[in-house]
This record gives sequence, C-alpha cells and structure tokens, in this order.
Amino acid sequence: MNFRYRIIQFMSGRYGPDETFFIVFAVSVVLSLVNIFLRSVILQLLIYTLMIYAIFRMFSRNIEQRRKENAWVTGKLGFFKRKGELHRQRRNDKFHVYKKCPSCKAILRLPRRVGVHRTVCPKCGREFTVKVRK
Ligand SMILES: [Zn+2]
Repeated sequence: MNFRYRIIQFMSGRYGPDETFFIVFAVSVVLSLVNIFLRSVILQLLIYTLMIYAIFRMFSRNIEQRRKENAWVTGKLGFFKRKGELHRQRRNDKFHVYKKCPSCKAILRLPRRVGVHRTVCPKCGREFTVKVRK
C-alpha cells in the first residue's frame, strides 16, 4: 500500500480543508510572525490553539457541524465586505453626510451643507450638533 493511497483512505469521511481552515491557518501564521518580535507565551499558546483547531476541523468526521461553522465564518466575512462597500458609497456621496446619533447610534443621512448645524434624530428625538467640513 503506497503512502498516497493511505492518506486518501485516512481522509475519506473526514471534513478536509475549507475557507475557515485557510483563514485560521493564515491568522496563526501572521500571529507567529508577530510573535517573533513580541515573544509572548500567551500569544504562542493562542497560535498553537488555532493550529490545533484548524487541524482538528480538517480531520473531523462531524461534517455537518463543520459546514455550519464554515457558513458562519463566510457569512461574517460577507458582512465585513458589505460594510466596506457601504463605507465607500457614503464617502462618494457628494450631496449627503452620514452622522451617528450620539444617543441611539442611528446613522442619519443629512444634506451636505458646510458649517455647524443643529439636527434632531428622527429615531429618538435627541437634538445634537453636526459639523460639516468641506
Ligand atoms: Zn437618536
């Protein structure tokens, strides 16, 4: 029996690498590089934990659970991508400014008029000052 065949047989019925595996692995590699300078024992333990977790997931036979984890991780990444896109859209909006309400944290879209203005949050009714720079 050759080595490759044995690996294929060993991996059959196991989950294998996915996006989460590569992300966890990449994070642990980056942290390892950081730790060359920091030399932190805690960080080193975290790196080992991440690597063991990545390897554990790859060899896991609980495929359904691993799929759920991966869907969760890729879902979160999608969230960050959408957030970045939203940020870009707001920056390119020449007619409005986006300000966060200081009390309820709602994002208000206001007309872009340079200067200091008073505005009322439509969600919580709090009045606050908005500064718009050119
Ligand atoms: Zn508010």
